[in-house]
Amino acid sequence: MEMVGQFVRKWILPEKFVVLFCIVLLVMVWSGTFWQISYDREITIETVTHENDKFALAFEEHVRRVLKTNEQYLILLTNEYEQSQTVSPALLRILSQVAADPLVNIVTVAESHGEVVASSLSPVYGLNLADLPHFRAHINEDAGRLFIGQPKIGRVIKKQTIQLSRRINKPDGSFGGITVVSISPQLFADYYHDLDFDEKYVVGLSGLDHVIRASNNDYELNTDVSMFEVWQLLEKSPAGSYYSSGSSSGKRRLMSYRVMPDYPLVVQVGVSESALTPMFQRRLIYLEAASAFSVFVIFYTGRLTRRVRKQRLAEDRLQESFEELTATHEELTATEEELRAQNDEMDKANQTLTAKEEELWGLFQHMHDAFALHEIICDEQGVPVDYRYLFVNAAKEKQLGHSQSEIVGRTVRELLPDIENMWIEAYGKVALTGEPIQIINYVKSLDKYLAVSAYSPEPNRFVTMAVDITEQKMAEVALQEKERLLRESFKALMASHDELKIRGEELTEAKEKAEAANKAKSEFLANMSHEIRTPITGMMGMIDLTLMSELTPEQKDDLSTAKSCADSLLRIINDILDFSRLEARKVVIDNTDFSVLEMVDELIKTHSCETMRKGLVLDLVQSAGVPETVVGDSGRLRQVLNNLIANALKFTAKGVITISVQGRDLSGGDVELIFAVADTGIGIATEDMDKLFQTFSQVDGSITRRFGGTGLGLSISKRLVEMMGGTIWVESEEDQGSTFFFSVRLKAAKREDVKSRQTSLVRKS
Ligand code: ADP
Repeated sequence: MEMVGQFVRKWILPEKFVVLFCIVLLVMVWSGTFWQISYDREITIETVTHENDKFALAFEEHVRRVLKTNEQYLILLTNEYEQSQTVSPALLRILSQVAADPLVNIVTVAESHGEVVASSLSPVYGLNLADLPHFRAHINEDAGRLFIGQPKIGRVIKKQTIQLSRRINKPDGSFGGITVVSISPQLFADYYHDLDFDEKYVVGLSGLDHVIRASNNDYELNTDVSMFEVWQLLEKSPAGSYYSSGSSSGKRRLMSYRVMPDYPLVVQVGVSESALTPMFQRRLIYLEAASAFSVFVIFYTGRLTRRVRKQRLAEDRLQESFEELTATHEELTATEEELRAQNDEMDKANQTLTAKEEELWGLFQHMHDAFALHEIICDEQGVPVDYRYLFVNAAKEKQLGHSQSEIVGRTVRELLPDIENMWIEAYGKVALTGEPIQIINYVKSLDKYLAVSAYSPEPNRFVTMAVDITEQKMAEVALQEKERLLRESFKALMASHDELKIRGEELTEAKEKAEAANKAKSEFLANMSHEIRTPITGMMGMIDLTLMSELTPEQKDDLSTAKSCADSLLRIINDILDFSRLEARKVVIDNTDFSVLEMVDELIKTHSCETMRKGLVLDLVQSAGVPETVVGDSGRLRQVLNNLIANALKFTAKGVITISVQGRDLSGGDVELIFAVADTGIGIATEDMDKLFQTFSQVDGSITRRFGGTGLGLSISKRLVEMMGGTIWVESEEDQGSTFFFSVRLKAAKREDVKSRQTSLVRKS
């Protein structure tokens, strides 16, 4: 902002610029006005010139009229005299008539020798004109021409007159005299006066002989005016206008001239510049006055501006100085405040320092380590020989076994006479050189291990901080012993670790071998079971055939027993075969459509004989959510359920066996079926439940003996259930009964498949 302000002050509105602008403006206004005045002047001059030309024409006409009138008079007189050759009465009559004309001063007739024979003046005798120029001019002139003389003082009337004359011819054509009319030059000079024009308007009449005939200005009559510029102009144009310098009066005039075609005369009229341009003169004066005033105003404004500028500069400088002063004052105030704050801080710091010092001394006093301030004592050679206690804390008192008052002021040799020189030398070095030291050593006089830090706060003095590390030293020794033992144990551990590693490797190898052997065994078992089943089925077939033949009741009984044994054997073999196939991972789960409820019904029917035989009730409770038809391995599902029902029948002496099934929809069209087989049998002890699903395990050896079985059924069921995406578990209470649960994950069959199947079932039934 400041920069913009400076820029505006410096370049946009500086006083110089304003003054310059005013000058330019004024110059422009003046130029315009001047130009306007000049232009108006030009126009006026043109108009006046035009008017002047007209006046010149009018004046010429006036001159002509006067001359013509007088010429007419001369012609009349001349004619009369020529005819009569004497002063006839007619001539006299004409003479008197002419003389009566106010234009004419004198009219005269002279004979060939110049003698005046008739004149309007009386008496005329004795007057002779022979010496006069106009008389002489006519002697040699033969043409009848009007001679216009130069003005001269009249002999008789003693006034300026102009002689107009004509030649008189004798009958033979020789010179017979002249007729003369004298007229006043005023006739011409007063032309403007008669028109009421003032002296600024001038008229002039000159002959072509450059002699003035009449003039209303300062020019003397009869003056030779060959120097007038008009004569050069005449050569170019017979009429025109020009500016005369007004050589005699010094006044400039605008002149118009005309050469009279019928007389050897030049008429001129003029108007002086002062009359011509009074208005312009006035304007010019105003303009000059205005210019002068403007110059004065600008000059004064300039001075005023400079003064204002100087004043402003001074004000600016004053302001700057004031601001600087204010800033300095503020800085001083700030510094003062800072100093005060620093003082306060220093006071606080001092207080804190004192407090800390006190605290420190308190700390020193109460610190756990023994603290003491000493002064070294040297011999004459400057060798340290002893040191004196200046301050000791409580711990030091304890360490030395004396009170503070007993210690302070005494030397170490006084307190501990058998002190080793080593301590005095070491502390002496600290006190004299200022180099701190740390010593850990055994102090014989105190019977202690001490860790001592010593430094010198000022020359010849030193401070010690002694820590009793006797216990630490002892512990260190014990620790070192423990470490040694630990190291040995670690070595032993490493040795056993290596051994274990080797064992582990051996075990892994053995496990792999065992697994291979187990697999081989399972495969062997599978093969063997298969091999055994074939002859057994053969044997059973043969027993059935034999039973159909005629046999004695005893033979029949024996064969029935044999068949029952073969049945048991076949079941065992089937279990072993299933187990070994499961072990060898050779069992594959099928996927076919079947009705769950139909399958359960059929199973119940299969077990109805045994149920009835044992006087039990076998019931099916169906819960919601079981689909009509599912897709899965009905054979394996039947095998699991069959095993559980068979077990329930086996281990229940009385009561009810309930089979229940419930379904639950899963995502992706799957269904989870949960089966439960509950009995009121012998139950299972809690501690035996873990063994149930393990291979070849039976809860109790006596049970096998009582109820028979291989202990494979639940193990096979577990594996099959898991293969069908489910789990198996049991809830049981001893002597109350057991409930075996298992879940399987199946696919629900499509609706149309179900319908077709139901239809076929209906047809079958
Ligand atoms: P087994 O062929 O010996 O019956 P299982 O695997 O089917 O083999 O059964 C293992 C053991 O689990 C049985 O010997 C029996 O001790 C116990 N058990 C199985 N079902 C029941 C049940 N319903 N009630 C009581 N104990 C049972």
